[in-house]
Amino acid sequence: VIKQIAIYGKGGIGKSTTTSNITAALAEAGYKVMQFGCDPKSDSTNTLRGGDYIPSVLDLLRENARVDAHKAVFEGFAGSYCVEAGGPQPGVGCAGRGIISAFQLLKQQEIFEELDLDIVIFDVLGDVVCGGFAVPVREGIANHVFTISSSDFMAIYAANNLFKGIKTYSDKGGALLGGVIANSINTDFQRAIIDDFVEKTQTQVIEYVPRSLTVTQSELQGKTTIEAAPTSEQAQIYRQLARNIIAHTESKVPSPLDSQELRDWSSDWGRRLIEEETRPRRKARPR
Ligand code: ADP
Ligand code: SF4
Ligand code: MG
Repeated sequence: VIKQIAIYGKGGIGKSTTTSNITAALAEAGYKVMQFGCDPKSDSTNTLRGGDYIPSVLDLLRENARVDAHKAVFEGFAGSYCVEAGGPQPGVGCAGRGIISAFQLLKQQEIFEELDLDIVIFDVLGDVVCGGFAVPVREGIANHVFTISSSDFMAIYAANNLFKGIKTYSDKGGALLGGVIANSINTDFQRAIIDDFVEKTQTQVIEYVPRSLTVTQSELQGKTTIEAAPTSEQAQIYRQLARNIIAHTESKVPSPLDSQELRDWSSDWGRRLIEEETRPRRKARPR
């Protein structure tokens, strides 16, 4: 049985970076893994391919209605497979058709069976810009959904919205929530915010990933951190995250906060942040 997971989160939060590192970590551990990007930018998989962009399924379908699905599958780092669904022009919106037609094409031609995959990871933008929010959830394309969030309010707001979508489709066969991948968590305070959010919404943190210069340096080389800095601490964290995702079996219906609760919750944390920042700091004792 193949595991199908979808990774969601606000644009720029680190979905493609994190997903590519999970894919790379699983591929190097011997899993047969496919990363399936869905974003009009079609840039999900390029760090698995030395910075190379691949044609998207929608591009191929625009050229020829009867596409050989093999032409949309490209090899990436350590024998991983890369697919980009593609999407509409920014702002036009495809309301989820991109991911559905790309997925159907591969499914009809039995690519998933042929490649004998262990896991398919969907990296889905799916926000209001393209209108496809919650499509993989609604269509049951994924069995588990993970959301990436930092401790920033806008990222948490987007995660909470996704929780609402998951809850809505949960009794209609939609995918359930595996948990939150906490990205760019470098301080105890940031960790406390995300911990409190997952507690209030009855989910869990799958792994805490710090913001790290190693990630930036790797990206500039067109590579994942797993490939560019395999012995770094950051690579170890991505490997642990990948193991946690493989081991994950039980997803749940989250309890999103309603708008008023979210406002109260964030202004409460805003107050604490101001206290934290204005608290007199103890001077480092001279040695
Ligand atoms: P998304 O796919 O959600 O739009 P990306 O994965 O493209 O976001 O990430 C946006 C930017 O943030 C990239 O330049 C990426 O290198 C950077 N980034 C993401 N996570 C980290 C991290 N943990 N440490 C440093 N930079 C990061
Ligand atoms: Fe992809 Fe969905 Fe956005 Fe279309 S709406 S580009 S399928 S994420
Ligand atoms: Mg992306």
